Amino acid sequence: MASPQGSRAPLEFGGPLGAAALMLLLPATMFHLLLVVRSGPARLLGPPPYLPGLQVLWSPRMLLLWLTWLGLQAALYLLPARKVAEGQELKDKSRLLYPINGNPIYDFFLGRELNPRVWSFDFKYFCELRPGLIGWVLINLAMLMQEAELRGSPSLAMWLVNGFQLLYVGDALWHEEAVLTTMDITHDGFGFMLAFGDLAWVPFTYSLQAQFLLHHPQPLGVPVASVICLINAVGYYIFRGANSQKNTFRKNPSDPRVADLETIPTATGRQLLVSGWWGMVRHPNYLGDLIMALAWSLPCGVSHLLPYFYLLYFTALLVHREARDEQQCLQKYGLAWHEYCRRVPYRILPYIY
Ligand code: NDP
Repeated sequence: MASPQGSRAPLEFGGPLGAAALMLLLPATMFHLLLVVRSGPARLLGPPPYLPGLQVLWSPRMLLLWLTWLGLQAALYLLPARKVAEGQELKDKSRLLYPINGNPIYDFFLGRELNPRVWSFDFKYFCELRPGLIGWVLINLAMLMQEAELRGSPSLAMWLVNGFQLLYVGDALWHEEAVLTTMDITHDGFGFMLAFGDLAWVPFTYSLQAQFLLHHPQPLGVPVASVICLINAVGYYIFRGANSQKNTFRKNPSDPRVADLETIPTATGRQLLVSGWWGMVRHPNYLGDLIMALAWSLPCGVSHLLPYFYLLYFTALLVHREARDEQQCLQKYGLAWHEYCRRVPYRILPYIY
């Protein structure tokens, strides 16, 4: 089967069977999490406390609210006063491919179109950051305000979760241009995976910690809160340092901030960083992201597994994503990639993985 870029690529995510399973499993998991987080026992692995009837799930008002939210984001996205950045060049720039045979389930999951657009409105790029990520922050804020209403003031744990995640989302929006070089934009089509992921999974499951704290208040002292802040700061430092170093290097390898770093030449003419953050492990940005994920769960205490769902899921996602990226880098860079792996043997966690 042709990939969205046109070259033949091995099937990912377990092919059509895996794609079909994920399309059932992801929405079911999301509903499960949303039901248990507000139940007394809040058991990640237990059955949901009740199943809401259709009349609860379907409300024209909610649909209208959701469409208004998307419409507002779309209007802001279309504002003429914005910076325009160039994306990556496609491999088959000069001709379109019309593959005859594909698997509808797999294609629906991963998406056939790499960059679906109507005029200048790029659906995938639009969904990547704005409605879902900002929606996540709004849900967090709603939890904080509801807690203040219920208990007089928001708890320290709620402030931390809101603050950490606001920093993360603010950072993503501040560095919006960097999304153009991520796998989501350069490699994955716009299918169920990204549409559901960006619009539903991110806002509703990434806000689980704030939802949990609203229904299950947790005491948190200043000393423990300070340690958690430190963990988040370390994670953010690694995450931002690694991502900025690579982005600066990819934009301009002779930029003074990266010019002194050691590199490996590749047959494509591009180079691979082999010192600095990218000489520590092959995915230092994932390490920083995971440390932050831990800091987001810790304010929820250790009585429940549920607030750690994000950390567990995100570890699985990044381990899988790292393997996919390695495969793509091996195809792109061949021997040079082998050399990089020899010189930087650990993938995410130094001396462990
Ligand atoms: P990365 O930013 O990790 O980019 C991977 C690419 O970087 C490779 O394909 C290669 O592309 C380039 N690269 C790899 N090694 C080197 C090197 N040594 N020197 C120079 N370039 C190198 O990709 P992702 O899109 O996976 O992640 C982006 C960020 O988004 C990460 O911080 C990640 O943690 C985060 N993320 C967050 C998610 C969330 O839900 N919160 C989900 C997914 C990601 P090339 O050589 O072509 O430039």
